[in-house]
Amino acid sequence: MTTALLLTQALLIGNGTYNIPTGYKGKITTHRIHQTERKLALTFDDGPDPINTPIILDALKKYNAKATFFVLGKNAINNPHLLQRIVLEGHAIGTHSYSHSASLSQEQADRENTLTQAIVFQATGVKTNLFRPPYGLTRSYLNKNAIHRGWAAFNWTVSGADTATKNPDVVYKNVCFTPNPGEIILMHDVKPHTAAAIEKILNHLEEIKFKCVTIPELLTPSS
Ligand SMILES: [Zn+2]
Repeated sequence: MTTALLLTQALLIGNGTYNIPTGYKGKITTHRIHQTERKLALTFDDGPDPINTPIILDALKKYNAKATFFVLGKNAINNPHLLQRIVLEGHAIGTHSYSHSASLSQEQADRENTLTQAIVFQATGVKTNLFRPPYGLTRSYLNKNAIHRGWAAFNWTVSGADTATKNPDVVYKNVCFTPNPGEIILMHDVKPHTAAAIEKILNHLEEIKFKCVTIPELLTPSS
């Protein structure tokens, strides 16, 4: 992709990977990130989705909020323009496997991580080193493979539980019930009820003075 696209990503280093502090590389983080400021990270899994991802991107833009998208290879390959939009609008992008399978062999896991990273790289020029294991399975071959590559893997500390409900108000309440600084919040940009809840969520977080940042920014101590 173009240099102009990459220049929008201040958190990238020379080879197109995210600048991640050493303590987060080659491991999975499952806890809140220590923060002295009211910052948190919204994360969206399983996309990109041609209907719901654009709704979420529009809302993030309206509220000047940044997020991290953990994309599936099988959806990314069909929506390169959405990968580009995610990057161009200043969000971070990570991978979440190709197929979202819970039972891959070691070899299949390696292939899926290679392929999904390559799909994102081809569309955006970002050689992402951010990863989230499907179902949060830290012992899966997918997660072990990501860690072996030195990628920074992240689970979540708050769940919107949008796979367990279709009610936007429930998603809103799950996300907005006493968030703390440094929280990593899980949602899914393939879910219409999450797209329906996102403006209310962003409006509330703004009202209670939280800034939504990408995971790489959340990890960077403020100067
Ligand atoms: Zn998932």
